Amino acid sequence: MAETKNKPTDSPIAGPEFTDRVTRLLISCIENLCRFLPSSDPLNGKLQGLLKVLKKAIRYKPVSGLAKEIQDFFNRKKLEEEFRFTEKEEMRQIVMDLTQTIKDFASVSGGLDSDMGKYVEQIDKVNTLQDFIALKKNLVSDLRKIQLSTKDLKRELIQYRNITKELSTRLEQTEAKALIDPLTNVFNRMAYDLSVGQMIREFTRHKEPCALMIIDIDYFKKFNDNYGHKAGDKVLTSVAATIRDAVRDSDSVFRYGGEEFVILLKKIEYDQAKRLAEKVRYEVERDYFVDKEIEMKVTVSLGVSCLKEGDTEQLVFDRADKALYKSKENGRNRVTMA
Ligand code: GH3
Ligand code: MG
Ligand code: MG
Repeated sequence: MAETKNKPTDSPIAGPEFTDRVTRLLISCIENLCRFLPSSDPLNGKLQGLLKVLKKAIRYKPVSGLAKEIQDFFNRKKLEEEFRFTEKEEMRQIVMDLTQTIKDFASVSGGLDSDMGKYVEQIDKVNTLQDFIALKKNLVSDLRKIQLSTKDLKRELIQYRNITKELSTRLEQTEAKALIDPLTNVFNRMAYDLSVGQMIREFTRHKEPCALMIIDIDYFKKFNDNYGHKAGDKVLTSVAATIRDAVRDSDSVFRYGGEEFVILLKKIEYDQAKRLAEKVRYEVERDYFVDKEIEMKVTVSLGVSCLKEGDTEQLVFDRADKALYKSKENGRNRVTMA
């Protein structure tokens, strides 16, 4: 026994394999660090240079083991951070709209608009969902007081109070449930339900073009039957990663159901959305997944709809869903624009 122990090859901290693993770990840490740095930051440039050298030093394969766990952790953090950021922006907008409304009612604007200003300041400072919920509760209670001022103002304020209340409830739900799908590391259905309404409100407010894309894996039932559910799970994870890599950071990817993903795309015109859908389709088709030395592939069908004036969550989704159905009907592994 002692003999074996002393063999240098058995040492966990020696040999090319160990160096390889440490290098991968380092790559993963640096890559994720870079994601949190603005591209203009000089440190980002330096780290990118180092990454190139490290990647050359090993034959770069997809991350696994601890390096993968680190990457997943950062993916989740990044997604949650993005989500909080959009929520914050929306609340800021509501408070600003509200301030404007109050100003418009000249007779009561005296002390109230400055009071509302404090909320804008506070929004900038809050960082946790709990603080956020507390802030919204205060806002609702202030609104109740102000509401008594005039009859017209009262009507307007009831509207705002309801929106704010709804936001508070949504945030409480957000806090209660995780927003990330643990298998694929993209947003889950709950996050989708919260985000799609937000996208529609932003579209109504700013008139910036948005689109919704549904992606469904083709013949996935057959895939599970052929290769097993575990291999199916791995493919789901791999497809989600491919989708996430294909879209911009500002686009949110959701696992809508079993083997179905949705992307909410902001600031995107019809042609760009079509090109992006083609890119996603192509990247998934090109990708392959190796399990027990068997090379496995899947394809996806896509349906895309661009937001129109007067759209509801249901309408924009239904159009994309119908388009997806056409992609399936016409042979799968294709894109249909609504
Ligand atoms: P189509 O091309 O028409 O979309 O065919 P399909 O087989 O992909 O569609 P269908 O809706 O008939 O089947 C979906 C399959 O997806 C069935 C289910 O076993 C599989 N699936 C759903 N969720 C998961 C999951 O979390 N893991 C695995 N491995 N399979 C899943
Ligand atoms: Mg399917
Ligand atoms: Mg499906």
